[in-house]
Amino acid sequence: MYYRYHPFLKAFLKELDAKIIFSEKTNKRILDLGVKYCVDEACLPIKIFHGHVASIKNQCDLIIVPRIIKEKGGEFICPKFCGLPEMIINSIPHLPAITRKPISMDQKKSLDRWVIGLGKSITNNKEKIMKAYSKAIRVQESYNISINDKNYSFKIALAGHPYCVHDSFFNMNIIKKLNNMGVGVVTEEAVKKDSFENEINNLYKKPFWEFTRNSYGFCMNILKTHNANGIIYISSFGCGIDSVSIELIKNQVGDFPFLILKIDEHTGEAGVDTRIEAFINMLEERRDLLGNHISPFREHLYTHQDFI
Ligand code: SF4
Repeated sequence: MYYRYHPFLKAFLKELDAKIIFSEKTNKRILDLGVKYCVDEACLPIKIFHGHVASIKNQCDLIIVPRIIKEKGGEFICPKFCGLPEMIINSIPHLPAITRKPISMDQKKSLDRWVIGLGKSITNNKEKIMKAYSKAIRVQESYNISINDKNYSFKIALAGHPYCVHDSFFNMNIIKKLNNMGVGVVTEEAVKKDSFENEINNLYKKPFWEFTRNSYGFCMNILKTHNANGIIYISSFGCGIDSVSIELIKNQVGDFPFLILKIDEHTGEAGVDTRIEAFINMLEERRDLLGNHISPFREHLYTHQDFI
């Protein structure tokens, strides 16, 4: 979630005159440290997080490990996020202090408690903390993480959790690779969340995992707007939430091009490259065959799905 919220934390800590130590961008060393310390069963993003913590634990007095419970009312983040501080404490020896309080971002009180508590671990000056808090909110509000490339002959919708889509080591630099092949990218942050809600409301049972709702809503939006020629879903091997999200999306895509890349620490880059290239070749052939129009079968599929 660093990719989403780092402007807030950076601005807040800077205003409190704290020296910030950043771990390096995810790399092989970080991954190896994560694999060394984390339990085997965890998904790759959790292992990578362990690696980041282990890499800076000797350089600072406090490590921020946000225990994010939810960002929006009625939607929950993965349970692994909720237990992240305990996982870290039990797996990595000789840690400095770490943050452990939960954050429910949909409740102002919860967010206030977390931010003010963090501020108090740095200074006793309440006024300074509140000033830093206001500034951090302003900085965060002006930040835009979305990608919506223009002027490419093809465009791919990259679906998946923010740390899968935006961490270039995890996804083996897929955005750059696609751009180098002349393919643009659009990510879920470029689409208004209201449209996700409408799609979720059409489901028989509404999922309460935020990542499922976002990925499903985003993919349905792409299917309807055709703001991309295909969808690539970047997933972590062993992610329980994605096992549901991907099935829900697969049930709806019909013949719309859809590629799932499941990644773990053993995934080879050459294999991923081959699959991406094959997918793009398929898109080119499809365009030659159908033009840039919707397949004649799609309308039928939507109608058919309505009856299921
Ligand atoms: S949502 Fe999936 S990938 Fe993310 S932390 Fe949970 S299990 Fe891992």
